[in-house]
Amino acid sequence: MEFVEVFDSPGKGRGLRATKELWAGDVLFSEAPFASVVFDGHAACVCHGCFRRQEKLQRCGQCRFAQYCDRTCQRAAWEEHKLECAAIKNYGKAPNESVRLAARVMWRTDKEGSVVSDLQLSTMDELEDHISDMPEEDMKDLKVDIHNFLDFWPRSSKPHTVDSISHILGVINCNGFMMSDQRGLQAVGVGLFPNLCLINHDCWPNCTVILNNGNQSAIDTAFHSQKRIELHALGKISPGEEVSVSYVDYLNLSEDRRRLLKQQYFFDCTCEHCTNKTKDDLKMAGAEVEGVPVPEENVKEITENSRKMLEKMEQARIEANYNEVVKICRECVEKQENVLADTHIYQLKMWSTLSEVLSYLQFFEEAAFYARKMVEGYLKLYHPNNAQLGMATMRAGVTHWQAGHIEVGHGMICKAYAILMITQGPTHPITKDLEAMRMQTEMELRMFKQKEYVYHQMREAALQNQPMRMMAEPFNESIKSLFRRK
Ligand SMILES: [Zn+2]
Ligand SMILES: [Zn+2]
Ligand SMILES: [Zn+2]
Repeated sequence: MEFVEVFDSPGKGRGLRATKELWAGDVLFSEAPFASVVFDGHAACVCHGCFRRQEKLQRCGQCRFAQYCDRTCQRAAWEEHKLECAAIKNYGKAPNESVRLAARVMWRTDKEGSVVSDLQLSTMDELEDHISDMPEEDMKDLKVDIHNFLDFWPRSSKPHTVDSISHILGVINCNGFMMSDQRGLQAVGVGLFPNLCLINHDCWPNCTVILNNGNQSAIDTAFHSQKRIELHALGKISPGEEVSVSYVDYLNLSEDRRRLLKQQYFFDCTCEHCTNKTKDDLKMAGAEVEGVPVPEENVKEITENSRKMLEKMEQARIEANYNEVVKICRECVEKQENVLADTHIYQLKMWSTLSEVLSYLQFFEEAAFYARKMVEGYLKLYHPNNAQLGMATMRAGVTHWQAGHIEVGHGMICKAYAILMITQGPTHPITKDLEAMRMQTEMELRMFKQKEYVYHQMREAALQNQPMRMMAEPFNESIKSLFRRK
């Protein structure tokens, strides 16, 4: 490894540190998964080789479970699927994603050993499984998985002890990395990346990790299904400095982040932002009306009320009842106005949801209004190169473009582009999409400045052709925590 090395991080166990000076956007390393699987819920709509979402997929004729874009993807994935394919056929069905992933890890380790490349800094045995920390309920699930694994595991494969199976399942539970489809909008699978597992968490990290699903080009078939994660520096990192990523969304309050981290990853976060409760005050702040702060009890009351409304809204969203979502949000936003500060996270959550759902329902003007408020709030809370900030700014830019606010829209798309160049890098499909949008909005802006009516005519045509198909149906799950969370 050129830029990182393993070291003993005080109080955290093993970690990775930089060996050279690094700058924003630098790629510290990239890593292919040791093993990965598509989630049960996405098995029918995502290619099991490259994890791209596709309209039409070809089913594996043997097991009738795995699906692929084409022969190229199928051939590239065969080495990983071969033994699994026979096992599924034998077992009569595919077991759940954890069992499938554990089996893939075992098959690979049996065949190639626990270190499969010179660049791999850790073996599967060395990774934490946190079995002894697991709550009783999770232990029950684990036992069921072990049972299913033993049933699924073919007699012709090398037998494994219950201890080693439970170790791998434990590793998957707390180290599995969620993998998204090519647009990065939704987690569709989970993989194990041994080097990534060595990186410790910090709520205000100096790196971010992204998944690159590989280049989809006819000439480049060798890379067709080479999914890799990449670690990007968010700012300057000095030699010797520990490298960190965040497992949770910074928008959560420090106590909520610590609770989530304890639950899922079994450690107490002692990062600077948690210790100092940095920005917690902004995230719960009340508004000032004409220079006078709103009384604390009012802020408390509306905060409490918003919490309940958020739950109701989430429920309506799960049911895909978008008109109800809008109704709840509008009602809530009205109450929050002039009581909660523009950085209050419950208000930001409402603005974000409103803009997303309204834009889906094609109320672009109102969607743009809330998208802008959301981005302004985010700017005060997130690290300037945070990937979520970049994605939100992109969404807001598109919404403004849709609403016909070409100047603001173009400005936002440029800002988003600058962030995503660092967090995703220039070759990532989202960055490429964004570059195309930046060029189109730039051209439109020029036209707008010359002749306004020509611009409006052109925009109508563009909207009808829908060249910017960024607004997928709002997803229930967000990509906020890239790491697996139950
Ligand atoms: Zn594919
Ligand atoms: Zn098959
Ligand atoms: Zn923290």
